[in-house]
Amino acid sequence: SISVRSLSKWYGSWRALRDVSMDIEGGTCTVLCGPSGSGKSTLLRCLNGLEEWQEGDVVIGGVPVGYRAGELRRLRRDVGMVFQSFNLFPHLSVLDNVTLAPRIVRRRGRRESEQHAMQLLERVGVGQHAAKLPSALSGGQQQRVAIARALAMRPSILLFDEPTSALDPESVKEVLDVMIDLARSGTTMAVVTHEMGFARRVAGRVVFMDKGSIVETGEPDEFFDCPCTDRAKAFLGNIA
Ligand code: ATP
Ligand code: MG
Repeated sequence: SISVRSLSKWYGSWRALRDVSMDIEGGTCTVLCGPSGSGKSTLLRCLNGLEEWQEGDVVIGGVPVGYRAGELRRLRRDVGMVFQSFNLFPHLSVLDNVTLAPRIVRRRGRRESEQHAMQLLERVGVGQHAAKLPSALSGGQQQRVAIARALAMRPSILLFDEPTSALDPESVKEVLDVMIDLARSGTTMAVVTHEMGFARRVAGRVVFMDKGSIVETGEPDEFFDCPCTDRAKAFLGNIA
């Protein structure tokens, strides 16, 4: 499990996160939504140790991780992240993209890393493309490689920041199917997405953010069918 306790973050004098507290139970999928600029990406980037914060803690596996640079390394190692823009290394094969971090950060041997990578690439349906460069793959295939790459580090939690927003409709479905499979098999996940169908099918909880705060949380059907706050009602009215 991973918890956020009273986390606040400023960019200069701009407060991007206000006293955010949240628990993500092991084996569950949490969907984060909210208007543009509400702090969703900032929160994920803090959880992943990509961004420092000023107040509060992230507690992972019972251990509080502070915002200091040395501690952030622990988050980067234990928390996987999948971005909207894939961010694969363009000069490395698909297979090498997946084995790089386990070999360097986890100091795994080549044979072991490659075996594990192939299992993961098969799982996300791109095993036949292992020897190719990312540029030879479609967007949906590249995003599935990015998911395999994140899984290769055996993260305690996997974060997704709008993983399907840059994809064509067919690719969206391929990537969502992989994410649904991961969620159903008990992967701990936090997903920023506007895919409400995905949220309804697999999310244990929906967290709605606005202006740097968590405004409302609920089970998906409850949240989408009768949101409690005016802000969530207005937001859902706009995306429906
Ligand atoms: P979107 O739905 O558009 O992706 P978001 O909910 O992910 O929005 P964030 O990207 O987390 O929002 O941004 C939260 C606030 O922090 C915004 O007001 C944004 O302008 C500001 N912000 C984000 N990154 C930086 C930065 N590097 N420097 C300064 N301000 C930033
Ligand atoms: Mg964002």
